[in-house]
Amino acid sequence: MAHNIETIAVIGAGTMGNGIAHVLALSHRQVVLIDLDDTRLGQALDTIAANMARQVKKGTLGQDEADRALEAISTATSLEAAAPVDLAIEAATENPGLKRKIFADLDRICSAGVILASNTSSISIASLAAVTGRASEVIGMHFMNPVPVMDLVEVILGSETSAETRNTVAALARAMGKTPVTVNDAPGFVANRLLMPMINEAIICLDTGVAQAEAIDEIMVLGMSHPMGPLKLADLIGLDTCLAIMQVLHRDLKDDKYAPSPLLGKMVADGRLGKKTGSGFYAYP
Ligand code: NAD
Repeated sequence: MAHNIETIAVIGAGTMGNGIAHVLALSHRQVVLIDLDDTRLGQALDTIAANMARQVKKGTLGQDEADRALEAISTATSLEAAAPVDLAIEAATENPGLKRKIFADLDRICSAGVILASNTSSISIASLAAVTGRASEVIGMHFMNPVPVMDLVEVILGSETSAETRNTVAALARAMGKTPVTVNDAPGFVANRLLMPMINEAIICLDTGVAQAEAIDEIMVLGMSHPMGPLKLADLIGLDTCLAIMQVLHRDLKDDKYAPSPLLGKMVADGRLGKKTGSGFYAYP
């Protein structure tokens, strides 16, 4: 059986959170978007409005629909705003301690039976479930970037996630026009277990002078039919997120083949996080 989900809290209004809110609102759900301050929330609403305006201009979305969707998104700077929702999707910074704190708080704030989903790229779902009193209602709901464009939702089952929770989340993903694919809880799940080592290797190729960034990307686009090269994709994902995922793979799989490239660490330390900061492997003026 799947529950009907009408009202959703999205925690974190960054790259992924604003995309998730965008698609939820267009699929006729009420969304409360939660972040640390009003500046970030204002930026997220501007991004959503601009992305919807682009869809309207392309003729893939009606102006009325866009207006209605924007009205369906409210914002808050406190997690307490998640109290009345049917489901919460956490899309905050990829930091295990931060996510555990959010899950413990959501467990206190949300009613019994409400599903707590994480958009984490790599952090163990079991470790998030463990800080709650509702492990059977904790699940991974891993959207791809950019959320309005990408079809996949990787659904990650923790060891105690119930079939009902899985069915509810899969039904919501389908209602959002996405295709859910279910996997088990393991470091990086499937998407990032495969993608991140490739990105990391591309950074090592750049760092050790095998080729320039443009050449590395062109080889994967023209030679492997990837829609975007790995370095450009890393800039889109955010280099801090890439580093955090490699650190989880390295630590949890206990294999040095997953050691993050020193150049990746240096760029993150320098605040060059990719597209979101205007500078990464490429410049975004
Ligand atoms: P981001 O840096 O763009 O946004 C993270 C947001 O979380 C920020 O706005 C930050 O202010 C907010 N935040 C931090 N602590 C918070 C708290 N306590 N309460 C509320 N908000 C808080 O990061 P992102 O790229 O959107 O990534 C978010 C999550 O999605 C991460 O777990 C990441 O691994 C995952 N993810 C990212 C991508 C990608 O391509 N960027 C793809 C799939 C999944």
